[in-house]
Amino acid sequence: MSKPKLPAEMICIVCPRGCRLRVDEEMNVTGNACPRGAAYAKAELTHPTRTVTSTVALSESAIGRVPVKTSAPIPKEKIFDVMAEIRRCRAAAPIACGQVLIKNILGLDADVVATRTVKS
Ligand code: SF4
Repeated sequence: MSKPKLPAEMICIVCPRGCRLRVDEEMNVTGNACPRGAAYAKAELTHPTRTVTSTVALSESAIGRVPVKTSAPIPKEKIFDVMAEIRRCRAAAPIACGQVLIKNILGLDADVVATRTVKS
């Protein structure tokens, strides 16, 4: 990862309050109303991650797809690879909310889990 451009400004996306964060040349964070904002800003500048949300195709159900998300944030540079893997996945109803549909996707220590129950 290349060195982050500092100073930097960003909006914290950890909670709906959306604090405006500023990071100086020494990686000191201001503008955060809680410690999670400082942790978010540092991670965003050094190793940004995102929780991936998508859908998985269903082979036997009245609805065609089930919504899913990763159980942990994924490095941003791996999101397209994760999406391609999710696109290849096929599942069959019944599916329980929280059920793992792809275990440890791409070895990233995150599962792809259903976010909705689907009856057969
Ligand atoms: S800094 Fe804390 S309070 Fe502010 S948006 Fe981030 S998580 Fe929420």
